[in-house]
Amino acid sequence: MTIAAHSFKGKRVAVFGLGRSGNATVDALMRGGADVLAWDDAPAAAEQAAEHGLPVVNLHGVDFTTLDSFVLSPGVPLTHPEPHWSVKKARACGVEIIGDTEILVREIAGTGARLVAITGTNGKSTTTALVGHVLASAGLDVAVGGNIGTAALLLPAPTKTGIYVIELSSYQIDLMPSLKPDVGILMNLSPDHLERHGDMQQYAGVKARMFALQGANDLAAISLDDEWCADIAAKAAGHTSLVSFSVAAKNASVKSDGDAVTDTRDGTCVPLMQARALRGLHNAQNACAAYIVARRLGLDAEQIELGFNSFPGLEHRMEEVGSAGKVVFINDSKATNADAAEKALSSFERIYWIAGGQAKQGGIASLKHHFHRIAKAYLIGQDSALLADTLDGNVDWVSCSSMQNAVRQAALDAAADSCDKPEIAVLLSPACASFDQYPNFEVRGEDFRACVLALDGVQQQTKVA
Ligand code: ADP
Repeated sequence: MTIAAHSFKGKRVAVFGLGRSGNATVDALMRGGADVLAWDDAPAAAEQAAEHGLPVVNLHGVDFTTLDSFVLSPGVPLTHPEPHWSVKKARACGVEIIGDTEILVREIAGTGARLVAITGTNGKSTTTALVGHVLASAGLDVAVGGNIGTAALLLPAPTKTGIYVIELSSYQIDLMPSLKPDVGILMNLSPDHLERHGDMQQYAGVKARMFALQGANDLAAISLDDEWCADIAAKAAGHTSLVSFSVAAKNASVKSDGDAVTDTRDGTCVPLMQARALRGLHNAQNACAAYIVARRLGLDAEQIELGFNSFPGLEHRMEEVGSAGKVVFINDSKATNADAAEKALSSFERIYWIAGGQAKQGGIASLKHHFHRIAKAYLIGQDSALLADTLDGNVDWVSCSSMQNAVRQAALDAAADSCDKPEIAVLLSPACASFDQYPNFEVRGEDFRACVLALDGVQQQTKVA
């Protein structure tokens, strides 16, 4: 049974934004006994909701002083570039503005169920999935959702032994005045979504709210690998239990060099070498965070290692789709900019690189320090010429008319490579948006996978759940 929002029984609550999570919110509030007013400014969404029997009321005409709470979809601007009309109206009437994840937190409170919440600029989804997988594979009662996969209020109702592993975007944290996770995780911070948060200071301020209400019995797992996070860690240490982590040889409680996660508190060491879905230092950072949660919830090193090794990874993020001898085929279609592609390029020593699409500002110039790893590049999509300009004189490249051509040529060249590296990657990490050729990065990744699996002699990577 999914969550019913009992804490809103008898309350009058308006919900703005009737996508999947908005509809789930309306349903959870109604089942909890609230008087609900549902609205969306997009006529199609409002009409569809009404057809499904939701209590659709045009909020433009509602007196917000009659409301107890206003639930806003996290995609709707709260502050920047300017507050949405509904936000202005709620503020003017002194009504609390919250999100569906706030309702989840209120429903969990006092039930015995625990909350593990994960945020950061990058690696949120991977870490959330990894934590969920490691805990579930040790037999714990885990529900994973939030900003990844299942909307918060479509998760099962809380039980005494339940553990909610929730990915939170900064937009969601902004709508969670009661956020106080049993374990809060901050992965990293770099400029992102500043159009929504104003500046880096404000963006970091929102992320820091993950820890603001925590006390001595809660745990904050915070990376020390950028100054923004290190600053937040120093402040959190004053009022909660801090376990810091680092992949940059900082003086942290839990560290990784990419080969293993080491706990400097008691010397525990969990190898990462067999964890095929956790290649690269960025994934070692994700593994450090997952290790800290798992230890906190009572798992031992052996259980954690088993979880790491059987983690199937997430689709389209450095996903191994198949192999042929020592050639591995990696789908990193989610890498829609150079920063993301940088992580994949740094994870392999010998690469046949499929890239291109709609280039972002700056193109691939920032990747030059990894060009020595690239044996050859196979360019696809509208901005091939722009990428070729940067590669010229540095990396051998060829322009390919389709993904199928790129995959075929790269596979042939990789198979003929007699280098002494133990692993050769045919890597789709486009460093570009997909929209010139595909509806989205997922469809681009599916195309790559289909082309790889159509090759003779490729063994499909079987996923261990
Ligand atoms: P998010 O949910 O924060 O967008 P994902 O787990 O979906 O993050 O990963 C998105 C991309 O970010 C991946 O393709 C990878 O290149 C990169 N990434 C994953 N983990 C990290 C990390 N810890 N630090 C930096 N980049 C990362």
